[in-house]
Amino acid sequence: MGGSIGGIVTAAYLTKYFKRITIIESDDVLSDTFMKSTPNQLLDYRCRLGGPTSLGRSGVSQMYHLHVLESEGHKILQELFPQLKDKLLNEYDVREYSFKTDCRFMVNGFLLNQDLTEDFPLLGIDRFTLETAMRKELCLQYGNQIEWKCNSRAVQLIVDQSLNIIKGIKYRQKHHVDSSSIDLYGDFIIDCTGRNTSSVKWLKESFNLIVPTMQIHFGLGYVTFIGERFKTGDPSLDSKQIVACSFNSPDNNTGFATTPIREIKTMDENSLGTLSTLLVQCVNYEYPPNDSYENLLEWIKEKLGPECYSVFKSTKVCSPLVSYRRAIDDRKYVEQLGKKWPQNYVLLGDAMCTFNPGYAQGMTHACRQARELGKIFQENCHKLKDISHIFNRRASAISEECWLLSTTNDWKTPTLKIVETDKNGEIKIYQRGDDSAPTKSLQPQESLMLQFMQWYTHWFSLCASKSPQLSTDFYRVMTQHSSPSILMKPTTLLTVFYTAFINYFNLSKK
Ligand SMILES: Cc1cc2nc3c(=O)[nH]c(=O)nc-3n(C[C@H](O)[C@H](O)[C@H](O)COP(=O)(O)OP(=O)(O)OC[C@H]3O[C@@H](n4cnc5c(N)ncnc54)[C@H](O)[C@@H]3O)c2cc1C
Repeated sequence: MGGSIGGIVTAAYLTKYFKRITIIESDDVLSDTFMKSTPNQLLDYRCRLGGPTSLGRSGVSQMYHLHVLESEGHKILQELFPQLKDKLLNEYDVREYSFKTDCRFMVNGFLLNQDLTEDFPLLGIDRFTLETAMRKELCLQYGNQIEWKCNSRAVQLIVDQSLNIIKGIKYRQKHHVDSSSIDLYGDFIIDCTGRNTSSVKWLKESFNLIVPTMQIHFGLGYVTFIGERFKTGDPSLDSKQIVACSFNSPDNNTGFATTPIREIKTMDENSLGTLSTLLVQCVNYEYPPNDSYENLLEWIKEKLGPECYSVFKSTKVCSPLVSYRRAIDDRKYVEQLGKKWPQNYVLLGDAMCTFNPGYAQGMTHACRQARELGKIFQENCHKLKDISHIFNRRASAISEECWLLSTTNDWKTPTLKIVETDKNGEIKIYQRGDDSAPTKSLQPQESLMLQFMQWYTHWFSLCASKSPQLSTDFYRVMTQHSSPSILMKPTTLLTVFYTAFINYFNLSKK
């Protein structure tokens, strides 16, 4: 279920193990608009329209926002679709960039060191084009094995309660809401329907199974547009196609980023020669305006400082300003349910876990989970009935890594709200900073571990700003090449503790 990034990559991995794969997708993703448009027409849709809904692509409302595919995700796509990269480079005017030479990244208030000891490639492409090109490639390579049911919305599970198995799903055609649902049976069913998955509701209805969840609401807001960047006069900015500054709540609740999506031919020597996605973002509900570019620039000047202002001031806007205000961290602890979890059914990608998009983890997380599922089938020693349990354990370890990186600092948001549901269905809501409420809210409790992680992240970022090796390690984790544990190697721990100690010591002397 779901034919976007997670669904496409999973289907490609599983073609080796299943004769026939059916993808149920609620949008009309095989329409001529997507499948027959030229690269320029796709770019035109991206620039001209205010959102993907105008193209009938409402299922991925974040589609028009800045998306970076981390290099581990990139590697997975190359493995599955060997022709894809060349096509993107040759037909779509996409270019590959280098973190070492093309990137300037401020994390937690510190500029990462740029003399990296290792390089990481980054494909300069927008999400809309990437997803469309991936789907074309899937159809081209595996068209005989994969059947698409588009405009079809999964609405219910077909289960055998006594055997604890999911045997199929019921789906309904999207434009005939009154029509009766159609039954579809399968040996193994994967929910790739993204952040708004109905699985939690379906599992409760069908098995009275409650999935433990945690939702972190931290007031994220995005305003994104496509623009042509021109020189600012500051070589440290003009030489970088990728510029980003993360927020650092509670001191700084705003951030920005820009990444290139296409090369363009221009005679203007002040142009950087690319179209880019530009984004301003906030936490703590301090939303940037999107009613006019003048107002956005005023907001940037006040909240984001001179560097960001000069990048945006010297950019020519080439699309509407699109806003997004719905992102939360949302984790389903499927692994905690053990064998209570039904057989032959898994959640994958955003359906299992969504993150603060600031560290660009989601697409690569979905690709890695799909690869892990492929690996479990490849191991060829597991019974089909055990695969969902094995996958839940291994996939949640992948989610945990991305969760640590993406959410640790979200807990510092002044208006943080946490909604926790435990295995028994008890819901607890914690809210910080809501003094106006008539009844006092429960206050979010940060574990000692979490407080340590926040403290460590701050001092690590300071050390990384001075150390090529630590900055490289940080990029290894962000690009999902390595687990976050490499940021706590004994030598790194010593460096971080020593730096913190010297800073505290110097402060106490003043
Ligand atoms: C503002 C924003 C910025 C982001 N930036 C980045 C970034 O820079 N890098 C990154 O890696 N990630 C980013 N992400 C996260 C990324 O968008 C997701 O992690 C990624 O799309 C997950 O892919 P998915 O296939 O699991 O789900 P989705 O992409 O959400 O796809 C779900 C699919 O299921 C379909 N569907 C939904 N319901 C049904 C149903 N009932 N029946 C049938 N089909 C259904 C939808 O139409 C859609 O095609 C960002 C997210 C947001 C919100």
